[in-house]
Amino acid sequence: QPNVITLFTAGANSGDDIMGTLHFPELLANSRCRNISELPTTSLVDDLSKTSNVQLHVIGFAPWVPDCNTEFLDRARDDRADISGFFFYTLDYIDSIPGAGNHYWGGIKLRDYNFPIYGMRGREGAFLMDRYTEYATNKSLLDDIHNTTGRARIFVEVGTGRPAPLPGLWLFLLIVLAVLVLILGLTSLSMHLLQYRRRRSLRRRVMAGEVDLEALGIKRLTVPRRILDKFPLRPFTLDKDDGYSQQSCSICLEDFVVDGTTVRELPCKHIYHPACIDGFLEQQSSLCPLCKSSALPKGYLPKQLTNRTVRRERYLRRQRER
Ligand SMILES: [Zn+2]
Ligand SMILES: [Zn+2]
Repeated sequence: QPNVITLFTAGANSGDDIMGTLHFPELLANSRCRNISELPTTSLVDDLSKTSNVQLHVIGFAPWVPDCNTEFLDRARDDRADISGFFFYTLDYIDSIPGAGNHYWGGIKLRDYNFPIYGMRGREGAFLMDRYTEYATNKSLLDDIHNTTGRARIFVEVGTGRPAPLPGLWLFLLIVLAVLVLILGLTSLSMHLLQYRRRRSLRRRVMAGEVDLEALGIKRLTVPRRILDKFPLRPFTLDKDDGYSQQSCSICLEDFVVDGTTVRELPCKHIYHPACIDGFLEQQSSLCPLCKSSALPKGYLPKQLTNRTVRRERYLRRQRER
């Protein structure tokens, strides 16, 4: 619980500090509020008219007495036109000053007053009254004060806190930032989702044998050793049943020796020296150097399908569809 509560700002902004000398309202001679016990002892001789320093505004203050509050405020308003603020105080910590939203303030029209009104409770209220009483009654304290009125006046400055850092603007900027981050996040997410679906689609079509990545020039593939090892190694013969049409290795251009050379036979039935073709298939390309058909099994899926491969496949497919 803050010990100072704002009951009515009267348009005073945060940062507009309120200054003035402490002034107890001059009650009417027949006022019954003169008899309440919480009054500062010298309140009734707080002679406002004697002040020569008219530039100083005054800040009214009075104890919190529900039956007298309206009179305090009215008198404070009528005492001086330049009153710049008003404090109600209580001397204990009991939360007896209702907040601005309380229905009590329906009875006191705060908006009738053109100065900010605060409530002060607990130690701060007691301090305010003690200082006022002390300076007003103890003449020895006045020696150090350049006193032109014959009475001590207590100068009060009310700090209303640092100026609010444009909460509306900050909130607006924060919202804009949040929206940008959200848009960025959603865009990124949908891009990733789209790319994921396209990769999955391409993978499915490759596995179904609909797309031959290397034959279409989309991605260079190589033949892993485990697949290469399945291609038969045979001694070269001239037996027509084997269907070999080649007499020489088209990589090194050397002739095969009948029953002397071991040849590697690819799925397309083309034969090469294993020493010539194995390295080529493993490192260069999966396509037969002679007929350009893939040595890889139908539906072979390379380990990774990158987004670049997906983009290239899409591009080529669209070119063909035109
Ligand atoms: Zn060879
Ligand atoms: Zn071939």
